[in-house]
Amino acid sequence: MKAVLGKQQGRKSCSRALLKIAGREESGREDSNLRPQRPERCALPICATPRLPVVLLYSASMNAANMKYFVLIMDGAAGWALPANERKTCLELARTPHLDALVKTGTLGLVHNVPEGMEPSSACACMSLLGYDPRVYYKGRGSIEARSMEIPVREGEHVFRCNLVSVRDGRMDSYSSGYINNEESRELILALEAAVGDDEVSFFPGISYRHICKIKGHEDVLEAKCTPAHDIPGGVISQYLPCGRGSEFLRDLMSRSVEVLENHPVNVSRRARGEVPANMMWLFWGSGQIPPMPSFSETYGLSSAITSGVDLLQGLGKMVGMKVLDIPGVTGDIQNDYSAQIRGAVAALDTNDMVVAHVEAPDEAGHDGSVADKVEAIERIDGDMVSVLRELAEDGVRILIAPDHPTPIEVQTHVAEPVPFLLCAEGMAGNGGARFTEDEAARTGVVVTDGFSLMGKFTAREVPRWH
Ligand SMILES: [Zn+2]
Repeated sequence: MKAVLGKQQGRKSCSRALLKIAGREESGREDSNLRPQRPERCALPICATPRLPVVLLYSASMNAANMKYFVLIMDGAAGWALPANERKTCLELARTPHLDALVKTGTLGLVHNVPEGMEPSSACACMSLLGYDPRVYYKGRGSIEARSMEIPVREGEHVFRCNLVSVRDGRMDSYSSGYINNEESRELILALEAAVGDDEVSFFPGISYRHICKIKGHEDVLEAKCTPAHDIPGGVISQYLPCGRGSEFLRDLMSRSVEVLENHPVNVSRRARGEVPANMMWLFWGSGQIPPMPSFSETYGLSSAITSGVDLLQGLGKMVGMKVLDIPGVTGDIQNDYSAQIRGAVAALDTNDMVVAHVEAPDEAGHDGSVADKVEAIERIDGDMVSVLRELAEDGVRILIAPDHPTPIEVQTHVAEPVPFLLCAEGMAGNGGARFTEDEAARTGVVVTDGFSLMGKFTAREVPRWH
């Protein structure tokens, strides 16, 4: 960061950005550390302090020939009207002064990120937002996780998510084996590799309960109907084992895992400590090889970076050659450090044409069925992050804000419905929307049916227009 700041000291844009922030009426949250300490001038000592207005971190490299782009993905932020909350959605319930202000300067509309008939996973929907057609490139979650873990998947090979789960009395007691630690789970995965692994089957230890199993040949395993372990808490497992064509091979592997794991020394000590044993592996999210994807820079002519607290999104970024930012404090839950994430993301604009910030928190709150947490996540995004994006927009940075898919509180899972998007570019005016909500977006009449096409419009030379 020091190098970046050093470059900018004394530049004109530095004081311009500072003055702009100083004149800002609406501020973010009270605890926001994005506000200037001494806004009246940009003397060198201020630029050298670590707690700076974030705009300073990139602005020196901005010029007309070097357009910058920022994409904010509010994972699962969209939803349905809540009967118990005045029939309002969480986006409507949340207080979002910065989103409201930005909406009045750009195009608000609806975007379909999940093609018809495809699963509304974050990876599928985010692939659209990043400008790639999921109908061509989405082959399931397993293969994206494998790519993220740098596990090669060749032609004729298939990868599955392999959870270490805890089964008691024939029921799914814990899909995460009580969030087993990396050391213990690694030992168990290596035991599986030794006992069950062969030329066709191999195991790759990941984080906590999440691992990868790769199967060579057996083409029909991808046709088996598999159920994610986290979808069947307390369920009778015999009712949810892989079924249909290709399932026999998977069921055999899963039952053999019980023999290896049940009395493994790791589980003996876990039981002795009163912890649940990791006594079975559970396979799902089977995926084939991903066809070669052209990089983001080849496709859109822009260098890019992504920040996310979620492996899957980091994997997606890697797949298209985006730089994956490592920003301390960025997590996949509502404890996310929103300020740190936006600061790190904006700093990355200095060396990248586009930065994508993916925030998982609203989706997590949706899965938990918590209106309060989801509204809080949206308000934190608005106060800590969108407040900064307003400054970027005023400096000519193009801004795209959208959830990937809705995660309605009522169903606590993703649905394949369109979501609101907001696109701001210099020279653009508002198209009638007053707030960033599902209804207001629908009312503008702007609908992008192929979500992946939005990126082309966003990055086009001319100002994007809808008629
Ligand atoms: Zn998502």
